[in-house]
Amino acid sequence: MKNTIEVFGSQVFNDAVMRQRLPKETYKALHKTIQDRRPLDGAVANVVANAMKDWAVEKGATHFTHWFQPMTGVTAEKHDSFISPTGDGGVIMEFSGKELIKGEPDASSFPSGGLRATFEARGYTAWDPTSYAFIKDDTLCIPTAFCSYGGEALDKKTPLLRSMDAINRQALRILRLFGNTRAKSVLTTVGPEQEYFLIDKSLYNQRKDLIFTGRTLFGAKPPKGQELEDHYFGALRPRVAAFMKELDEELWKLGILAKTKHNEVAPAQHELAPIFGTTNIATDHNQLTMEMMKKIADRHGLACLLHEKPFAGVNGSGKHNNWSISTDTGINLLEPGDSPQENAQFLLFLVAVIKAVDEHQDLLRISVASAGNDHRLGANEAPPAVVSMFLGDELTAVLHSIENGESYDQRIRPMMEIGTDVLLKFPKDTTDRNRTSPFAFTGNKFEFRMLGSTFSISGPNVVLNTIVADVLDEFATELEGAEDFKPALTALIKRTIREHKRIIFNGDNYADEWLQEAERRGLLNLKTTVDALPYFISDRNIALFTRQHVFTEGEMRSRYEILMENYAKVLHIEALTMLDMARKDILPAVTQFTRTLTDTALAKQSLSNELDCSMEQHMVARLSRLTGCLYRKIEALDQAVLGAKNCRNVTEEASYYKDTVFAAMQELRAVADELEGIVGENYWPFPTYGALLFSV
Ligand code: ADP
Ligand code: MG
Repeated sequence: MKNTIEVFGSQVFNDAVMRQRLPKETYKALHKTIQDRRPLDGAVANVVANAMKDWAVEKGATHFTHWFQPMTGVTAEKHDSFISPTGDGGVIMEFSGKELIKGEPDASSFPSGGLRATFEARGYTAWDPTSYAFIKDDTLCIPTAFCSYGGEALDKKTPLLRSMDAINRQALRILRLFGNTRAKSVLTTVGPEQEYFLIDKSLYNQRKDLIFTGRTLFGAKPPKGQELEDHYFGALRPRVAAFMKELDEELWKLGILAKTKHNEVAPAQHELAPIFGTTNIATDHNQLTMEMMKKIADRHGLACLLHEKPFAGVNGSGKHNNWSISTDTGINLLEPGDSPQENAQFLLFLVAVIKAVDEHQDLLRISVASAGNDHRLGANEAPPAVVSMFLGDELTAVLHSIENGESYDQRIRPMMEIGTDVLLKFPKDTTDRNRTSPFAFTGNKFEFRMLGSTFSISGPNVVLNTIVADVLDEFATELEGAEDFKPALTALIKRTIREHKRIIFNGDNYADEWLQEAERRGLLNLKTTVDALPYFISDRNIALFTRQHVFTEGEMRSRYEILMENYAKVLHIEALTMLDMARKDILPAVTQFTRTLTDTALAKQSLSNELDCSMEQHMVARLSRLTGCLYRKIEALDQAVLGAKNCRNVTEEASYYKDTVFAAMQELRAVADELEGIVGENYWPFPTYGALLFSV
């Protein structure tokens, strides 16, 4: 086998390959486009396309695709071969600049949330030269943005790129105020930690709920769960280790910096973390990582579950979005730095994030809202649905002293003049102790922990970039207009701390007292997706996103429709799957088991009236009662699903599914799970939790 250094990035048309294969002028032009995010000249595109094609064909590729991220949450690709007829019965391999830059897939089969009604069905994909092309399954994949014919974003990449532009614009204004003239651009960086479950594929194939919905809709608690806490960081089982090894290798080929792997808290649960990168590339890479996890699991006879809550009563899976801001010159703006000047700048960026999170709790909550994640947020494992920030005792004390103009430490002078007098050091170790916080400062970055495991990280980062950009915009305007920078800066930092410190909470986010305290502080507690989503299209949020040029109002309304509709659809599919399993699998199984017991009792009685049949009688009585109950719950769920037809719009429909259909699902499940506990294992129609969780 080749060594890792050779393998890494071998399937990527990266900078090194470009430098090697492109004429110098073309390389320079492309490089400039990538750095300045400008459109590429047609002639240059032709040269790049041809070099890409030659490289890909040498590596065995036969097709190319514009790889994009529609609102379905998964990636989409339509493959075209490179072949072009030569006129003498043969073909040559061809790929033009036009084909590289722009594609025209039919947009009508992707969610558009009403944008389609007003615009043509035709959509187009546009090359994102900031994310390298790569080869997957003998296909050259070109990362692209996906828009309607009128230019409206129909995907997850376009708004992300716009939000990165927004924070770039505003953060540069701040840097200039601090006298930094060297930085040419500011980027956000992300390292997403990805959780997932691995179970045996043959067992997976026996469960319709896993196949259709990604989670178990029935299942009694196994005798052993995660209570012994013996899985976390435990030794990897051979099959899991083999899977992880191949996954690492495949990801490395794609230039993905897979770094850390370990067992998670729940049985059969694992985690993978990459080394962080620029946000839009980290987003593409996370989508590829999820895709590879599924594909490679399959090769090992395993099924990879990315659902947020595959098993009730067992920890679900999330994604930790480690986020920071840095300059093109490599300075992390959330790093306190080595000089007082950098410190003051750090404090300004820090309070900007504090203000952004406090003022836009609703948007952060919305960015992690989905039917699947509703099973986690607020349960005793993931962060609660209330957004708050953890800064750690030390940094909180520093902010307290600044707010009150007191000395934080006897050894340093009072903090009135932030620009000159303060030099703070925050050892990384003291800040990373709280695992219950939804949004924690971890030394030189923030860790947003509310994301669900299936999520594209695009949405949460669009929100983070935009809300911080908007605050920086306001700060820059205030400071640019100030007569004297330093006192204005001090006043701004103090005022921001005073006005937004309510969002800081360093305690246990799982405690009931916190929810009461959060309510006293006036923090939002949006328990479900249906509660949260309407905030997205508030006047205030429409103003914010349009002001920062991240979404148009039409794009926001369409996204709202898509998300609400998706919520209702997910519950609809889950309800139908439950009805199918209950009617076609559970009822017949219970009937058969009951029949065995009655047959046994009858056989005993035909031998002798003296024989004890009390077990059969009791069991049959209990089974009959539960079966009758199960049947009524099935009918009730059926009626509940039918009732959805009366809803007049998506908002009403989503609410109806949450309140009425979901409740009926829970009731049906409770009876079925009770039955599972008394029916013989050989009779039960699908693998139990015990089998699934301890199968690998
Ligand atoms: P922990 O394991 O304590 O959560 P790590 O330092 O291992 O913390 O980092 C976790 C993730 O955060 C990794 O994916 C890492 O690459 C990422 N990360 C580190 N620094 C940054 C940064 N400046 N910006 C974004 N992500 C970062
Ligand atoms: Mg972490």
